Amino acid sequence: MSVVLLTNDDGVHAEGLAALGRAFAELGEVYIVAPEREQSACGHALTLHRPIRPVQLGERRFAVNGTPSDCVNLAVLGFLPAPPVLVVSGVNHGTNLGDDVTYSGTVSAAMEGTLLGVPSIAVSLVDGGDFDQAARVARLLALRVLVVGLPRKTLLNVNVPATAPRGIRITRLGHRVYSGKIVEQVDPRGRSHYWIGGGDPKWEDLEGTDMTAVHEGYVSVTPLHLDLTHHRAVMELNDWSTSLTAQLRSETGRAPVAPKRGDKPRKPRRG
Ligand code: MN
Repeated sequence: MSVVLLTNDDGVHAEGLAALGRAFAELGEVYIVAPEREQSACGHALTLHRPIRPVQLGERRFAVNGTPSDCVNLAVLGFLPAPPVLVVSGVNHGTNLGDDVTYSGTVSAAMEGTLLGVPSIAVSLVDGGDFDQAARVARLLALRVLVVGLPRKTLLNVNVPATAPRGIRITRLGHRVYSGKIVEQVDPRGRSHYWIGGGDPKWEDLEGTDMTAVHEGYVSVTPLHLDLTHHRAVMELNDWSTSLTAQLRSETGRAPVAPKRGDKPRKPRRG
């Protein structure tokens, strides 16, 4: 039987993860490996400076003292009896739309799966929505992905509306409008501190975006690509190379010598 990995960033005891567990129970040998406590907005962080200790909570259920990416890395690279055929991250408590996906622990778990070569899906639900309904949507997509696969280096970012979905739309990421506000407060000792990430998020109202689809009551499915290179910009910036190299040489006052094979790295010299 195939191994399926479920994880999240709201912690192993979160309701959204439990709903995923119920929806996927029949789909394979389902393992839950998830952070022991909430890790929302932790991004793609990996824990490299202390050991990761999974604690077994059930037959195939583990709490990890780390991030969502730690959980996926651990599970895919040898902790599970076999590498998973699918990673599903969620159901997140709250949406992960547009530019916000860059902060998301939920989406980062799916990124980690994708980087390790496992088809991966991130699922998030509008606050106040039905977790079981979102988990059923995740299952539907998972079955499709298991049959037809995903393009290389691509994951699915899924957002489910709070109301019964009117349908499923394939979308692109929307963009946040940053109002540039931070909130400054003063503590009882007279020192300033700040809150970031407060205030109501505003979004560009654009056709075809994840934001608009969810707003109109549809499930949004955005394929995200992990090659972050802007290939057109590589072409556009190509002539920088010659002029910047010339500038660099005129500043250092000498032409660099190409290292020969077998050369030891040279100590930096004062020039
Ligand atoms: Mn979360």
